[in-house]
Amino acid sequence: MHEVAVRAADIAAYQRVLGPERSLALRSGAERLAGTLAGRTVWNINSTSAGGGVAELLHSLVPLAQALGIPVRWLVIDGDAPFFTITKRLCTLVYGSAGDGGPTGEAEQEHYRQVLRANADNLAEFVRPGDIVIVHEAQPAGLIPAAANLGARVVYRAHTGCDTPNEHTARGWSFLRPYVEKADASVFLIEPHVPDWAPNPYVIAPSIDPCSPKNVDLSPATAVAVLQAAGALAGAGSGQVEVRHPVIAVRDGEPPAADVPMVVQVSRWDRLKDMVGVLRSFAAADVPGTWLTLAGSEVTGVSDDPEAEEIFEECRGVWSRLPPSIRSRVQLLCLPMADPRENALVVNALQQHATVVVQKSLAEGFGLTATEAMWKSRPLLANAVGGLRVQVVPDESGILLDPAQPTGAAEPIARVLGDPALAERLGAGARRRVHERYLPDRHLLEWGRLITALSD
Ligand code: UDP
Repeated sequence: MHEVAVRAADIAAYQRVLGPERSLALRSGAERLAGTLAGRTVWNINSTSAGGGVAELLHSLVPLAQALGIPVRWLVIDGDAPFFTITKRLCTLVYGSAGDGGPTGEAEQEHYRQVLRANADNLAEFVRPGDIVIVHEAQPAGLIPAAANLGARVVYRAHTGCDTPNEHTARGWSFLRPYVEKADASVFLIEPHVPDWAPNPYVIAPSIDPCSPKNVDLSPATAVAVLQAAGALAGAGSGQVEVRHPVIAVRDGEPPAADVPMVVQVSRWDRLKDMVGVLRSFAAADVPGTWLTLAGSEVTGVSDDPEAEEIFEECRGVWSRLPPSIRSRVQLLCLPMADPRENALVVNALQQHATVVVQKSLAEGFGLTATEAMWKSRPLLANAVGGLRVQVVPDESGILLDPAQPTGAAEPIARVLGDPALAERLGAGARRRVHERYLPDRHLLEWGRLITALSD
């Protein structure tokens, strides 16, 4: 286990986005919380410092909380490949999907416990009695009893869940329940995800960081320059933007030109993100002269996501069998993770440059990628599953797709590509929605209330 060092955020940048009234409410909420904590620390524990929604959230909230004077720190657990195969299986099961079909029996419990025992020994170096420990997701859930034994108040933060829990969800939870139910509180993304046995449950929606390289406003020209420098668009770039780690692209020939309408989905290479469904929808929409970009993190060396390579290869297989007239208008991009800021900038540019953004997930806790695209005023087509149903007000801040339709994005893709006024209206509604609901001030204040309640 190791600590992730972060630099306190620049508060002024947030104040500009939030405006004076919300900035003041955030400051006074933070002061109250710092007073309540009275020197005690809030620890976050998760499984990776880069890649995926949890790391994304912590990179945003921890620096902001620190800048506001709240003592928040971040620990990442260590684990081996079999451990992450088991925990990936558990996350997929909780999502309500069979996943790799592998076992979750006594041997897996034993390995899970063994890996977390080693982490628990480290935990004692950090956590003091009275501290608050927030355990994110299945990977470190087994540390809850150890954190409680150290005298901390422990919160389980779920980032996955299933709208209509099924036998897979039950199996995933039955593995995790003995640990999670020892927490002092548990936090879920949306109401339907809360299991009936959840200890002291809360529902808190996540947020995106409007001031991070992922979400700062980029002009259209800058977005194009970044994508050209990264090798995602044709052209030499302006020379003013340098990208040291270009994308790894699968496509026929040259990248698309900067003025080509582009449909984009950015997601980890995970079966539940349904990249293949986006590909098939784009093929069925078959709007001449438009391109599809499917982008995800690079697939080798992603320690906590062992399936990524397999899913990417599956997608490449489907792409290679498309009719040439469609295949030649699709690119699959793997975005290097070596430099997280650069990776974030490329994601930002892709989302900003997109004509239409799709999030066709088969299950979703809360789709950060969707909120990121909405913040960039993009028209979003999102499958009506999980948090996406709450994030998007249908036909006001995006379009919700019918999850029963495997190529359900096809007709809306064609419709929005063909109707710039609709695209503009949905994009404006999307930006408003995020500004009202999904920025970090609301998120931190809700956590503040929970932590205060636990401290009483
Ligand atoms: N992401 C990224 N680089 C990539 C692919 C994804 O930074 O190459 C980010 C993405 O922008 C988002 C997060 O990973 O912030 C994914 O969060 P989401 O809630 O959409 O899905 P999760 O991966 O947690 O299932």
